[in-house]
Amino acid sequence: MTDIKENLKKVGERVARAARKVNRCPRSIRVMAVTKRHSIDAIQSAAAAGQRDFGENFLQEAAEKIENLQDSGLVWHFIGRIQSNKTRSIAQLFDWVHTVDRLKIAQRLSEQRPEDHPRLNICLQVNVASDQVKGGVSPEHVSELVEEVRSLPKLRLRGLMCIPPQSDVLDEQRGYFARVRSLFTELASDQKDWDTLSMGMSGDLESAVFEGSTFVRIGTAIFGPRT
Ligand SMILES: *Cc1c(COP(=O)(O)O)cnc(C)c1O
Repeated sequence: MTDIKENLKKVGERVARAARKVNRCPRSIRVMAVTKRHSIDAIQSAAAAGQRDFGENFLQEAAEKIENLQDSGLVWHFIGRIQSNKTRSIAQLFDWVHTVDRLKIAQRLSEQRPEDHPRLNICLQVNVASDQVKGGVSPEHVSELVEEVRSLPKLRLRGLMCIPPQSDVLDEQRGYFARVRSLFTELASDQKDWDTLSMGMSGDLESAVFEGSTFVRIGTAIFGPRT
């Protein structure tokens, strides 16, 4: 049995230790529990241990979980690839979307966000390594997309997100995160609500925290391997 409560504590300690190494306040970093291919029971165990932010990659799987857990005060983050025929449901169900990488998707999310919902929190995904198989806007085109997205009325643009290539080499991990951080800083001027760097997973959260992450997205280290 995976001890979810114990794992959450360990992740919290990893974040805090990394933060202190670079003189950051540990509370400036939020942990998102990534629950793709994990059960509703697992989510409930994490929620019972005080976890509030949850990330999901696949709409259909997420919709079922979110409906089941209505009224439990959880915050839902969409972190998967977005197909344009899924934007309506995403705009209805989620509090945050971390993986916006083109204007068309952003426009649809804004148009389809229900009137009585608060603005949808958005991060733009940056393809920091120009990885062919990964989503994300190229670093050269981020600033253009920022300008376009910030004018959309039902969105609240919060910052940038990335999924760099996996590497066990700390300096390599840090290099990618540092590049996204410097883009984030360049784009920050007169940007209201620009406060989120969504980066770091189970294998590289320390490097991400060293480079300024404010949201780490953690699956395996909390819930064990996915089946
Ligand atoms: C699955 C996933 C995670 C969590 O990955 P782990 O290595 O299990 O911590 C984080 N971010 C995204 C975008 C994911 O798809």
